[in-house]
Amino acid sequence: MDTFQHSTPNKSTKGRASQDITLAVIHYTGSENEQSAIDWFESSEGKVSAHYVIARNGDIHQFETIYAKLWHAGDSVWRGKKWCNGCSIGYELCGTFDSGFTEEQYDSLCTLLIRDVEATRIDSIVGHEHIAPGRKIDPGPNFDWDRVRDWFTDNKQVIFIEGKPFTSKPEEVIEPKEIFIDDSGIFTKEIPAEINSGIDPQEEKQEKREEGFVGRLILWLLELLK
Ligand SMILES: [Zn+2]
Repeated sequence: MDTFQHSTPNKSTKGRASQDITLAVIHYTGSENEQSAIDWFESSEGKVSAHYVIARNGDIHQFETIYAKLWHAGDSVWRGKKWCNGCSIGYELCGTFDSGFTEEQYDSLCTLLIRDVEATRIDSIVGHEHIAPGRKIDPGPNFDWDRVRDWFTDNKQVIFIEGKPFTSKPEEVIEPKEIFIDDSGIFTKEIPAEINSGIDPQEEKQEKREEGFVGRLILWLLELLK
């Protein structure tokens, strides 16, 4: 297993601190070939990215540090919090709905998860399908969540796996009714489906405002220097 560093233009201008990171989101890329995902994340065209792409042989392609806000979750909600890009790390497994995933991929993924959980406040490991139900289906039924559970059996920090409460004793599992709560506090699974992966509209507005301010300040300073 090798690790390769890349970068992506598809990220929010502001980063975040480790205590802001509370969620790990697992995806599949839709292709078994890692190069197509790498090219797509390196291009500004699709406006999507993730922290890691994990190839079929277990190689890890990392795009930015975990402190960058990358664009993999899109319109999403987890435990009442909308737009999960800001609080999450994205793990993309090369594969499709039908392909299943390799031993090497599970090993690399779980190694990264363990490391990232230790470095942050991640308390939930979910699939894209759990935070954008009805809109997203990855990583799908061929992803083996028990592999992840096995790696976290004795971990006290991770309390949700596979979008439901995690415990090593299955009889203690309770129904996760509080998971999908909209702004009005109503339990819902309805999530608007129009946006694929992208930017929190509130954050985008804020960034535009700040850019505008900096631009005006520079023009004003240039005026003074004339
Ligand atoms: Zn996804």
